[in-house]
Amino acid sequence: MIVVQKYGGSSVATTEKIAAIAKRVAARAKDAQVVVVVSAMGDTTDELISMAKALCDMPDDREMDKLLATGEQVSSALLAMALQEMGAPACSLTGGQAGIITEHVQAKARILKIDGKRLKDELNKGNVVVVAGFQGITENASWADITTLGRGGSDTTAVALAAALKADCCEIYTDVDGVFTADPRIVPNAVKLDTISYEEMLEMAGQGARVMHSRAVELGQIYNVEIVVANSAKDVPGTLIKKEDPEMEVRNPVRGIAHDTDVTRFTVVAVPDQPGMAAKIFHAPAGANVNVDVIVQNVSADGCADVSFTVADADFEKAKRAIDPVVTELRARELLIDQNVAKVSIVGSGMRSNPGYADTMFGALAAEGINILSITTSEIRITCLIERDKVKQAVRALHKAFELEKV
Ligand code: ADP
Ligand code: ASP
Ligand code: MG
Repeated sequence: MIVVQKYGGSSVATTEKIAAIAKRVAARAKDAQVVVVVSAMGDTTDELISMAKALCDMPDDREMDKLLATGEQVSSALLAMALQEMGAPACSLTGGQAGIITEHVQAKARILKIDGKRLKDELNKGNVVVVAGFQGITENASWADITTLGRGGSDTTAVALAAALKADCCEIYTDVDGVFTADPRIVPNAVKLDTISYEEMLEMAGQGARVMHSRAVELGQIYNVEIVVANSAKDVPGTLIKKEDPEMEVRNPVRGIAHDTDVTRFTVVAVPDQPGMAAKIFHAPAGANVNVDVIVQNVSADGCADVSFTVADADFEKAKRAIDPVVTELRARELLIDQNVAKVSIVGSGMRSNPGYADTMFGALAAEGINILSITTSEIRITCLIERDKVKQAVRALHKAFELEKV
């Protein structure tokens, strides 16, 4: 039996916590081959980013990835040592050593393939293999660069390894008991879900529920890896992320509320409305490898349009540098940048076949006096862009309006 476990940053924040995790891992390794993926200790990744920013405004992507990947190397080596100390044979590997090959995109590389030979060899030698999460290596052996998979990417390392090794289970251990109807730090009466479908989890993660990395959920869905999310410090059942089943239909059609404060809104104001305008505007961030979301275009009577979109705060500098020349080229009046925004979303596959959710959502926000700046939807999600300082109030109001405390 092969088990892949992942422990997040807060679960390995101190050497004491690493020793405690080593005990759990060693117990599991008595009757299974175990691969453990770890995040960097505590806030290490944020601290490394601050150090880089202290030296330059926009650090080079390649150097940044090399720097950030060190966080997970520290925690993985320490966990291997702690395991060895308690008599459990263990060996740590970087992402590259574990055979994780990615595309050559710095900062948010996607995994292309996994060569599991070394991993299997170490497992067959009787080792617990501790893999540094969140990183891989580009393919060309002598010119290989270290890449990272995007913030929160250790979850993706774990699910990808579980798929490659055809593991029997993939367990993501974190600092909460599982996936809740909303972030339990914001909604104290949020309820832990026993199960959630890949589709719903993907929408939740994509809209800010950082308990799971979206790419990890996507890989789980593609390779049919069932994922358990549970608490690293307790022995209580967590949440199972799996294929939608008919039983899920009878539950509350709204499964959860997600929110994301890591958002910046760009508005290109009064740009002449002509064919190719949107293509030019959106070509810029795409070329800089920046994802855009919540796109809105308003055309006014004078033949001009305002085009707005959001990007992740972390991509703000890159997006601005890419879009500035286009604003000039298109003779738009100005570029507005608003960082006082946030997204709040309702998610649930039951929304597909039931009307009336938008009405309840907008009504609940209106009752709180919260202004909706723009709206986007998918088949199973409605997202509203609102002012950032209203986001907690919005999440709580929506949780109540959809009676999620009764799930
Ligand atoms: P880790 O370091 O273990 O990867 P993260 O901080 O990335 O942990 O993710 C866990 C956090 O996700 C929780 O502490 C919680 O505040 C937040 N979170 C946001 N939305 C949810 C949700 N719907 N259910 C559970 N946790 C959530
Ligand atoms: N350490 C990385 C981060 O903070 C990756 C992870 O924790 O999953 O984003
Ligand atoms: Mg995480």
